[in-house]
Amino acid sequence: MLEKVILVICDGLGDRPIKELGNLTPLEAAKTPNLDKLASESECGMMYSLGRGCVPGSDTSHLNILGYDYKEYYSGRGTIEVTGVGMKLQDGDVALRGNFGTVDENFVIKDRRAGRIRVVEPLTKALDGIEIDGVTFHVKPGTGHRAAIVMRGKGLSSAIIDADPHKSDVPTREVTPLDKSIEAKHTARVLNVFLKKAYEILQKHPLNEERRKKGEPAANYLLVRGAGQYREVPCFKERYSFSGCCIAGGGLYKGVAAYLGMDVIDVPGATGLPDTDLEAKFRAAINNLNKYDFVFVHVKATDSFGEDGNFAGKKAFIEKIDHAARLFLELPANTLFIITGDHSTPCELKSHSGDPVPIIFHGAGVRADKVTAFNERACTQGGLGIITGNDVMPQILNLFGRLPLTGA
Ligand code: ZN
Repeated sequence: MLEKVILVICDGLGDRPIKELGNLTPLEAAKTPNLDKLASESECGMMYSLGRGCVPGSDTSHLNILGYDYKEYYSGRGTIEVTGVGMKLQDGDVALRGNFGTVDENFVIKDRRAGRIRVVEPLTKALDGIEIDGVTFHVKPGTGHRAAIVMRGKGLSSAIIDADPHKSDVPTREVTPLDKSIEAKHTARVLNVFLKKAYEILQKHPLNEERRKKGEPAANYLLVRGAGQYREVPCFKERYSFSGCCIAGGGLYKGVAAYLGMDVIDVPGATGLPDTDLEAKFRAAINNLNKYDFVFVHVKATDSFGEDGNFAGKKAFIEKIDHAARLFLELPANTLFIITGDHSTPCELKSHSGDPVPIIFHGAGVRADKVTAFNERACTQGGLGIITGNDVMPQILNLFGRLPLTGA
């Protein structure tokens, strides 16, 4: 009987046929004996994480696959990013993500990442706790030049534009409301006051004095974006009766897991980059089955190679995944193993696309089909047919015998 789940999501795994690879996708062209062995013992299919006709973001697609329909539970990237750096949100908070950037005296952006400043904690500390008209700003460091910002107070709204114009050599944007509500107007006004005040503090901050002396750009402006308003989310354990944990390198994925109340396990060597230690991650996933019912493992670099249009790199990285996936050939009999992508990131497009991704379910009680390879074309012949991200958790519950009876 099944008791445990390992779910591996390879970001942006799906692709399109590539001429240089003999009209195969990187996943088809890669040598993947271990994943193919697993597929040959699995029920396979294709998945549109958000449904057909949708180009999924990584945050929304993960929510759907983990059983939280994004239409109901997605409230902006900011909420997920701030949860990922360990900040606790309360109902009504507005969360934003941001970069420390460099502006000149006319507020023209000279460097969106302030020379990729690595340690911003002294700066976030100087801004943390500022109160403006009943709204408290909580500011914490993210990775590198990034920061997480929470606005807490009455009558806030996330219906505001990004202050970050997403490019350099243009002025910073005044935050304006996206609708006519008093809340949006209030939030935009208070945020503008805060950003101005933050600039004054950052401009004089000793860390920036030091940077100027060294000829480095001052991290003197907070470029904020992705406002989201938090609504309470039922935790994964309550909703599915699985104690869950996440193993990921990328902050966004740790954020999604933390947002759903899963524990985030830090694995040394898990970087979210092509040099990530896949073996360590997969081994940690298996070891954590002792402690958790549901282990979600995220692998990032497949997506990064797709976004760079680097099909050879994507293929080679998939072969690394396959090599490490040999560890999953000998899982305990009580463990359901699933591997898929959150969306396709075709090298040809260098961006996410609405193409479905292969998915396989491997474990006791699964009706293995005739598919013998893990890739975009082989899995179209699988027993699962075409599913959506929202079907994954019900399918797991069904295999565990935990789906309620419909009717009598
Ligand atoms: Zn993704």
